[in-house]
Amino acid sequence: MELKFVKRDVLKEKPTDETKLGFGRIFTDYMLMMKRDGERGWYSAQIEPYGDLQLSPAALVLHYAQEVFEGMKAYKTDDGRVLMFRPWDNIKRLATSAERICMAPFDQEFVLNSLYELIKMEKDWIPTSPGTSLYIRPTYIGVDPFVGVQPAKEYLLYVILSPVGAYYASGLSPVQIYVESKYVRAVKGGTGHHKTGGNYAASLLAGEKAHEKGYDQVLWLDGKENKYVEEVGSMNIFFKIKGELVTPMLAGSILPGITRASIIELAKDMGIPVTERRISMEEIYEASLDGSLEEVFGSGTAAVVSPVGELIWEDKHIIVNGGKMGETTQKLYDTLTGIQYGRIPDKFGWTVEVK
Ligand SMILES: *Cc1c(COP(=O)(O)O)cnc(C)c1O
Repeated sequence: MELKFVKRDVLKEKPTDETKLGFGRIFTDYMLMMKRDGERGWYSAQIEPYGDLQLSPAALVLHYAQEVFEGMKAYKTDDGRVLMFRPWDNIKRLATSAERICMAPFDQEFVLNSLYELIKMEKDWIPTSPGTSLYIRPTYIGVDPFVGVQPAKEYLLYVILSPVGAYYASGLSPVQIYVESKYVRAVKGGTGHHKTGGNYAASLLAGEKAHEKGYDQVLWLDGKENKYVEEVGSMNIFFKIKGELVTPMLAGSILPGITRASIIELAKDMGIPVTERRISMEEIYEASLDGSLEEVFGSGTAAVVSPVGELIWEDKHIIVNGGKMGETTQKLYDTLTGIQYGRIPDKFGWTVEVK
């Protein structure tokens, strides 16, 4: 398939104040749009002006949530180069997520190369202040105008871009997390292991409840016994206990984060032991009481590393490291962002320059 280009008549005005970018509200001039139908397969791919979609009100995605997505970033280095972080892993995960909910396969290499073309074209939209980046949202939806339950034959796969501000406007500050003991996000055998929009719909109510109580995010427990830690909203989670990093193992209901995988590799490289296993809230609570719970942090593309200052579980307040960010958390954040922004040599082969 050939990647076509449709030019916009008038370009948008780029934001001038990078402190006011926020997250995911501003979109660039162009998007990548690919189309598929039952007869022709994938028949159109183009970089076209960013704009509204036209869909039938009966479109399958609107009724049965046949949707998967990704979240990745492009970074501007101090010397003006454009870097991406393990983008092939995101495209691969988009494909495996799609497979889980019966969506048509796509050519991963073509999507990745087309994405590079889009980024090259929109590179002037990548903000340059510390901690800012261009957020990339690949989205894949089934759009058949048919309200019967079955996998779609017609699809749109598109990528939109949004310049985003530093996640922590005033430095890395620890978040307060509500441990959810009633609602669950996912169960083994469900879709928790995949990046589907439906997982997020299922998470909203608990998130709102946590916000009302003054907490930033929800920590999910396992769907069977409500005992074992799973993950936080859109982040995986790590605990530092007696000098060791512990994170829940991937057992089918947790999203396999690319940041998670990178942190595991990075920590091991720094000589910090890492264990992937089941970890219960009881164990974390006990560790906090005997002083062996040293640090807690979340990991994900948006925040990279997010220190946790407090967990509330049932009526128990677990204060982590006096509510302050820990040393290991800081070191992992500095190293990972250093690699992403090209300030530290990337010996892992994670970054790619888009040029
Ligand atoms: C995207 C996501 C993550 C983080 O994954 P990264 O690849 O590190 O960005 C974690 N949990 C959930 C539920 C997610 O959707």
